[in-house]
Amino acid sequence: MYMRSEMQNEGIMPNEFTLATGLKACSLCLALDLGKQMHAQAFKLGLLLDLFVGSALVDLYSKCGEMELASRTFFGMPEQNEVTWNVLLNGYAQAGDGIGVLKLFCCMMESDVKSSKFTLTTVLKGCANSKNLRQGQVIHSMIIKYGYEGDEFLGCGLVDTYSKCGMAIDALEVFKKIKKPDIVVWSAMITCLDQQGQSDESIKLFHLMRSISTRPNHYTICSLVSAATNMEDYQYGRSIHACVWKYGFETDISINNALVTMYMKSGCVNEGARLFESMIERDLVSWNTYLSGFHDSGMYDRSLTIFGHLLEDGFIPNMYTFIGILRSCSCLLDVHFGRQVHTHIIKNDLDDNDFVQTALIDMYAKCMCMEDADVAFNRLSSRDLFTWTVIITSHAQTNQGEKALSYFRQMQQEGVKPNEFTLAGCLSGCSSLASLEGGQQLHSMVFKRGHLSDMFVGSALVDMYAKCGCMEEAETLFEALICRDTVAWNTIICGYSQNGQGNKALEAFQMMLDEGISPDEVTFIGILSACSHQGLVEEGKKHFHSMYRDFGISPTVNHCACMVDILGRVGKFDELEDFIKKMQLSQHALIWETVLGACKMHGNLALGEKAGNKLIDLQPEKETNYILLSNIFATKGKWDDVKRIRTLMSSKGVKKEPGCSWVEANGQAHTFVSHDCSHPQIQEIHLKLEELDKELTAVGYVPKTEYVLHNVEETEKREYLRYHSERLALAFALINTSATKKIRILKNLRICGDCHDVMKLLSSITDREIVIRDVHRFHHFKSGACSCNDFW
Ligand SMILES: [Zn+2]
Ligand SMILES: [Zn+2]
Repeated sequence: MYMRSEMQNEGIMPNEFTLATGLKACSLCLALDLGKQMHAQAFKLGLLLDLFVGSALVDLYSKCGEMELASRTFFGMPEQNEVTWNVLLNGYAQAGDGIGVLKLFCCMMESDVKSSKFTLTTVLKGCANSKNLRQGQVIHSMIIKYGYEGDEFLGCGLVDTYSKCGMAIDALEVFKKIKKPDIVVWSAMITCLDQQGQSDESIKLFHLMRSISTRPNHYTICSLVSAATNMEDYQYGRSIHACVWKYGFETDISINNALVTMYMKSGCVNEGARLFESMIERDLVSWNTYLSGFHDSGMYDRSLTIFGHLLEDGFIPNMYTFIGILRSCSCLLDVHFGRQVHTHIIKNDLDDNDFVQTALIDMYAKCMCMEDADVAFNRLSSRDLFTWTVIITSHAQTNQGEKALSYFRQMQQEGVKPNEFTLAGCLSGCSSLASLEGGQQLHSMVFKRGHLSDMFVGSALVDMYAKCGCMEEAETLFEALICRDTVAWNTIICGYSQNGQGNKALEAFQMMLDEGISPDEVTFIGILSACSHQGLVEEGKKHFHSMYRDFGISPTVNHCACMVDILGRVGKFDELEDFIKKMQLSQHALIWETVLGACKMHGNLALGEKAGNKLIDLQPEKETNYILLSNIFATKGKWDDVKRIRTLMSSKGVKKEPGCSWVEANGQAHTFVSHDCSHPQIQEIHLKLEELDKELTAVGYVPKTEYVLHNVEETEKREYLRYHSERLALAFALINTSATKKIRILKNLRICGDCHDVMKLLSSITDREIVIRDVHRFHHFKSGACSCNDFW
């Protein structure tokens, strides 16, 4: 090149030979720009048609990966010889453009040029890269035709092509015919067998190879370690580890990484860790292997430490590192660490990587940080079924049914088809919302898509109908379930129990035991509340004792609260107090809340006062506690005490938790907050409520104003009760739904005593069935009575 510039300086014109030599020099040092200048010069001098100059240009462009230029120059040449064809073919193969190789080879076949072994080797490379089995088979038959069978290079190319196309048997056939396979072919064959899931065959081949004293290379050993890992043959893995030392590969990073994986996956975590610690050199793959090794062994907190060490050692985490560490954060429910990882993700510019985002969504969702999960979800450039399912299910599980369903609609708009998990997630969203219409739509979708026999979906459907208070539908679906596990039985038992069908719950429990299905904690909650509802004290006690004795389930506070409820409901207060003492329950608000309910029912002022004070001590911020206590005083006409409780409440600065109710009309859920006037139909609703009030007064209804704790005039108290959220919802439903339809209302708090009375009366006045699901249970109001028998 130096010579050339000298020539130029002295004004000497280059000829075809000097140009070709110059171009060769350019292609050796990949000097593309200089080469292009020479190309221009050759054009000016009319030397472009010269075979040498043309070939040299094709060679230069191919080596520099400029395949378009190379091919244009090539086809511009007046004639092409075998060497130039091969140069161009090889250029395409090097660029990894298998299809380009094959297209070019077809052109070559049409010309008179005969293809040599070298050409065929190059073409096979193209077949392997583009995984083109058919073309590979054509080349194979040409090899046989030309009598090249058994050739080492061609054999290696064929083995490679067949193995990349997943044809281990064909690869092996070719391999057997190679006269003197070198280590590259041996390795290719061993790797192929391992990757095609024939790890034991690959090990056999390795023994054969060693028996003819062929020395393994780096690739052979890596494949064998991976074979040992796949076969979970720890003993064999150890023997390969010994080979690593024997052949002097002990400092090879990839081999060590494979060995660490092997030890970790076979449960030898300590050996894996020891090997990792002893590695002189490590790369990011080593760290990632180590990190996910601990995750897979269930030692999640260790992965967190490893992540810290990795950063300390100055490594920059990649996508795999982040996915691995986020998985560990999810399992540990450690959102704090997860957030730190998130900042590293942003720092490393990986926050628009969909795989990383998906791992983030999963982590945030598992940790119940739904807002963060939403943000991550909205950043995704493309959402697949998996991510949709994660976001829908996690919203449903965190009681954000509305959001779950709106995501589901969005998913359908984007044309993504749900699977059984998505459908089950949506159904539990409907359950939490008591959205019967939404649930029914999903039911028909489940039916159309043929998921009805799926256990998840089946159980979710039963649950949805039960939570919407439709026990008949729940029952029919439950009976049709092909396989009924504990979860399915729990769903139906708790469904009966919450809907006030205690006898059926107990019957179902017996059937469950008869079918040999083991009950769990949830089953007993259902059973005990069923006993309480039916007033079955002895049976309740029997089940409570058998829980631990027969099934090894330790009673939780919730079970104890059921027991307290059973005893309280029938007025066995001495036994109840003994039970609380014996089970050491005095620090649990739930217990005292239950006691208070029983005291109110039986007018037990002494214990009621004790329970109320306890409750206020334990949860001074909760408004309902004050209401419950003041109700007890009010029923006994102790107005001074009522006043005292009111003052106490305002001195503690108790904030009212807004009552909120949901009701469905025409396929849409409507939300009502107490005293909220924002609903578009609010005027109509108020008129309806006034009209209903008149009818109520006509049948002798007197508002229980003791349920209002605010210091206001009596008339105002009446007004106050009238606009409780469930009444707004009811009025709305009466206006907007057909007269035969059951009205289903979901409420975020416990229904107040006054509303309970009103609902009973209105169910007969309006001749409508009203179902209210509050935080505790279902109230089915029908013809003036409620399924809870006025105890809740
Ligand atoms: Zn109320
Ligand atoms: Zn009720």
